[in-house]
Amino acid sequence: MGLVIVGFGGMGHEHFRKLEGVKELTVLGTFDVKADRQTFAQSLGTKAYPSFEAVLDDPKVAVVLLATPNDSHKDLAVAALQAGKHVICEKPVALNTAEFDEIVRVSKEADRLFMVHQNRRWDEDYLTVKRILAEGTLGKFYHLESRVLGSRGIPGDWRKIARFGGGMMLDWGVHLLDRIVFLIPGRITQVFCKLNHPTGQEVDEGFHLFLTFEGGQTALIEVETCHYQPLPLWLVLGTKGTAMIKDWSLAGGIVAQAGSEPDAKPIVAGAGLTKTMAPRTEAAEVHLPLPVVKSDVRDFYRNFVQAALGREAPLVKNDEVRRIMALMEAAFESHRQGQVVAFE
Ligand code: NAD
Repeated sequence: MGLVIVGFGGMGHEHFRKLEGVKELTVLGTFDVKADRQTFAQSLGTKAYPSFEAVLDDPKVAVVLLATPNDSHKDLAVAALQAGKHVICEKPVALNTAEFDEIVRVSKEADRLFMVHQNRRWDEDYLTVKRILAEGTLGKFYHLESRVLGSRGIPGDWRKIARFGGGMMLDWGVHLLDRIVFLIPGRITQVFCKLNHPTGQEVDEGFHLFLTFEGGQTALIEVETCHYQPLPLWLVLGTKGTAMIKDWSLAGGIVAQAGSEPDAKPIVAGAGLTKTMAPRTEAAEVHLPLPVVKSDVRDFYRNFVQAALGREAPLVKNDEVRRIMALMEAAFESHRQGQVVAFE
């Protein structure tokens, strides 16, 4: 299928590179409103379409891939679908559920596939956590933490601005939440969120989000852009063990119970004593390596083509994407109210 990348900034270029390894899709060209990005595309030997309309008018173009700022996704997607193109859209799909519902309605009317690039479902750290939970090594799972931390503030020209759909909830929150719901089944009953603005930007520069699931499990999701010390990407707690993934190189491991632990001896802790927080004895714990999962994010594009041809179900489904959009709306509402909000 012939594909054109619309929006040839950082992520547009990343798609261009990745698509070189996908034989099912041929990049016919790109379009960007900035002249320097058009020149850059040409320097890579690809065609720079003169306008978005020219992309839509080209009958060789079967797929439009949108990698433009977040506020533009809805209008561009609707126009491309109405022109009879299948659409791959960057995350966050839109600014709210109302925009998303309009896209899905048009996609059904036009009978064209609309699929959101939730590429972090192919992240190996996430897939490894998924495997740990499936293998049951940790006993009864009850809590996890998923976080990403940076210290350089929000980069770029539009990510800091609310009307362009800036802010870390829409940028990173959408990825982290998209995955949490595949790790913890069932309804999310409660949402508590605190957005933060440590350097005074108009958009959220980070947030702490706490979810409670119907089975009683909880999840803490943290994003920070003003954080100078590392903390684990993942911490997964079960009754018989804890898994930690420290970083994207997949450093970390599992510490699990082995045999029975004798009653602890008190240790000196600060200005007091504790038995409760005393470390386990060596004989009563086992250190296991992470059961690392390998993946290829190009499977996203391959599946898109098969789904557009009606041969496979899309791996990223629109009802899943809508649920996360609604969850982010609940998070914003919790922050506004300063309290827990009910969800699902
Ligand atoms: P960017 O600023 O680097 O690039 C955006 C480009 O879109 C710019 O070159 C801009 O000139 C162009 N543009 C703006 N409006 C346009 C229009 N109407 N038509 C054509 N071009 C237009 O931003 P980015 O980091 O590449 O982000 C783009 C999108 O990709 C965002 O939605 C972002 O959330 C998403 N993204 C996803 C991932 C991921 O891992 N899935 C990573 C980074 C960014």
